[in-house]
This record gives sequence, structure tokens and C-alpha cells, in this order.
Amino acid sequence: MNPVATVALGAALAWDAASLPWHWTQGGRSTVGEWVYQLRGGARVTSQPPVYDVVAVKESDGAESRIRILQPYIESMDEATRLLAENPAMVCIVTYTPRQSRSGFWAVTRLHESHTIVLTGGSAFTAEDRRAVRRATLEAVLGPESLRDPVVARVSREDFSATRVLWGGVAHNVMAATGVLLFGLSLGWVPAYWAAARRRRARAALWRGECPGCGYSLRGLEAAKCPECGREVKDPGAGPGS
Ligand SMILES: [Zn+2]
Repeated sequence: MNPVATVALGAALAWDAASLPWHWTQGGRSTVGEWVYQLRGGARVTSQPPVYDVVAVKESDGAESRIRILQPYIESMDEATRLLAENPAMVCIVTYTPRQSRSGFWAVTRLHESHTIVLTGGSAFTAEDRRAVRRATLEAVLGPESLRDPVVARVSREDFSATRVLWGGVAHNVMAATGVLLFGLSLGWVPAYWAAARRRRARAALWRGECPGCGYSLRGLEAAKCPECGREVKDPGAGPGS
């Protein structure tokens, strides 16, 4: 309960709040972080999440059939167009949309994740082919090692969306809330400080022969009340003016 603790805690909280927009620009949506970011005149961040468009081609070799993935934007747009024109039943367009966002009030505490794979066209693709397409698409765009990741492995089987608690952010919030509480408690010196200041001002006013409440001159008055504001004044005549 002293001014040093108040200043130190206030500075720590202000510093922490000033760091929150960082979470925001890193794909997080901290409510307070967004306020601070806008207060500082930050430009709106519009991050375009990646969307992967690939072409899956079913190649039959007698009884065997296999799925080939063609990334038109990286490999050949012409080839993709040609394959689609020649045998549209054996070609499907695959759109993989991974979405990830973080949200929270102070620090970011929740991670929202959703992965959607949409297959368009390809009437000759069986259900098994479509599963193979999902897998092959993820391998092609995220790398062959990516299926070791449990989330990616799950996306290879089905669309997936989940929200997860970020415990680091929760711990951050607990510490910040503790800081706010301690800051509030540290303000205990303020009322005592104001009371002392008020007493000093009142004494100084009486010394000048004025009412401590309204400043009305009490010189020469014997009454125990200020005639202007009605305030009780002990010994109005005290001071050098009497
Ligand atoms: Zn008065």
C-alpha cells in the first residue's frame, strides 16, 4: 500500500497491455489487444489464409488405378485444363481450406481450427478414390511428412474443426488479473493521502482567516459556523488576522 507499488504494478500492466496487439497481429484476436492496437492507430490487419486448389487425376492402368495430384498454379495450368477437357469424369478439383484463429479477452486463450476439403467433379471417383484424394492432396500441399501430425492425419479422413484452450494464455490472464487486483489493493494510500492534503488545506485556510469549505473570510466573526456555507468552524478567530 504505497505509491511505489502502485507505480510499479501500473507500469507492468501498461507494458503487458501494450504487448497484446502482438498476439493480435500474429493471427490472434485478443479483444483488449485490438483496442490497444486501434488506439495506437494501427492499420486493420486482413490476413488472407491460404487456400489450396489442386487437381486430382484418376489414372487407370487396366485393373489398377491410382491418384495423381497436379498443382496447377505450381506445375502446369495448361495440363490441368487439358486433362479436364479430355476426360472430366477422371479429374476432380480439390480445394483444401485450413483455418486457424486465436481469440481471447486479454491474452489469447482459445485456438479455433477447421480444415475442409471439397472435391468438385470427378464422377468416376469412388468413395475409396475420394479418400485417397484427400490423403494425396495433403501430402502434396503440406509435404509427405505432414500426415504424421495427428490433426493432418484426421483431416485425411474427414473434415475437422475444433477449439482448444491455450493454457499459456490462461496463465497469462491469471497473472494479469492478479496484477489488477494487487494494483487495486496498492491504491490504499490514496484516500489517506487526500485526507491529509485536505487537512493541510483546511489548516492553511483557517490560518489565513478563511472558511476551509468555501474560502469566505471569517475575520472578525465570533460565530462557530461559516455564514456563507454553514460549515462548522472551530475557533474562527484563530490566526494572524484576528
Ligand atoms: Zn464557508
